[in-house]
Amino acid sequence: MTTFKYFSDTYLEEFTTQIIHVMTMDDSVAVYCDDTIFYPQGGGQPCDLGVIIIDGCAHRVHHTETTEKGIAHVLESHPSLLTSIGKQCIQKIDIPRRLLNAKLHTAGHLLSHIFEELDHNLSPAKGHHYPDDAYIELIESERTHDTFSAELINLKINTLVNKSPRKILSFELNLSEVQSLRPQLSTFIPQSTLMRMIAIDGFTPVPCGGTHISNTTELKGLQVTRIKRKKDRIKVSYSIN
Ligand SMILES: [Zn+2]
Repeated sequence: MTTFKYFSDTYLEEFTTQIIHVMTMDDSVAVYCDDTIFYPQGGGQPCDLGVIIIDGCAHRVHHTETTEKGIAHVLESHPSLLTSIGKQCIQKIDIPRRLLNAKLHTAGHLLSHIFEELDHNLSPAKGHHYPDDAYIELIESERTHDTFSAELINLKINTLVNKSPRKILSFELNLSEVQSLRPQLSTFIPQSTLMRMIAIDGFTPVPCGGTHISNTTELKGLQVTRIKRKKDRIKVSYSIN
């Protein structure tokens, strides 16, 4: 079972581990390792890219995804890869890409919390944390607000990022604890025994398997660009400049 190093350290750029499995896929090769610092695409967050260095030769990772066998680092096909099982390798991620993705992802949580505080009938339903199209969707159990002001939300962001920044932590909780903290959300998520939670200080934690920054001060430049209602959903688009 591969250890997900990106769970414990968002800022870890390089790590040495061992190749445990290799699989050919048309013109690509999927490499599986004992550990990985590469985040696989999912949960509304793009995957990490980078290189895997084997015997001094850097192989570009052009996609990372979760498969039945674990996390696949997809590399361009090369004959040497087929005999690399058991070899040591150095993983190196594109750290500017990782940090931008972690910021956009964490910003999604922060915005959800701001909206939940404004209206307790709202809860997070979807996150799409892509640099060219970042948005969250909240679902309402009962309509209490017809409109939300982007100006007001941006003032609240300014407070939480610049004036009174918050620490961000992750930890594990069991399913019953998650159900009591997040009754609406707990029915939408995989019902595993232990869940990784993300907590921005002062707000209710949420289950999440993504990568996050460690303090909201890193979200300078975050702003809401558009708020749109569609039936019982509120779509909030945002960017980090
Ligand atoms: Zn998250």
